[in-house]
Amino acid sequence: MPTPFPPRQAASTSWSGAAKTKPTTSNAEWRCTRCDKLLGICRDGRMHLRFARGHEYLVGFPVQATCRGCGSLNNATSPAR
Ligand SMILES: [Zn+2]
Repeated sequence: MPTPFPPRQAASTSWSGAAKTKPTTSNAEWRCTRCDKLLGICRDGRMHLRFARGHEYLVGFPVQATCRGCGSLNNATSPAR
């Protein structure tokens, strides 16, 4: 009785451009300096903050916010480029 699935080849293909592992939206994220929790997203020169229950705020710089995770006060003075 033949096996229904053909044996998979080892996925060890060596592509030359596999050096970058960064996510695409890395530079727009504002993260807590202490626990690295995501605090907001910078877009169009303003900071987009999201809170629980669908509360969202678009604020201008400079912006301060306390982290939901550790309670640290974070400060962003200018939009990330
Ligand atoms: Zn934090």
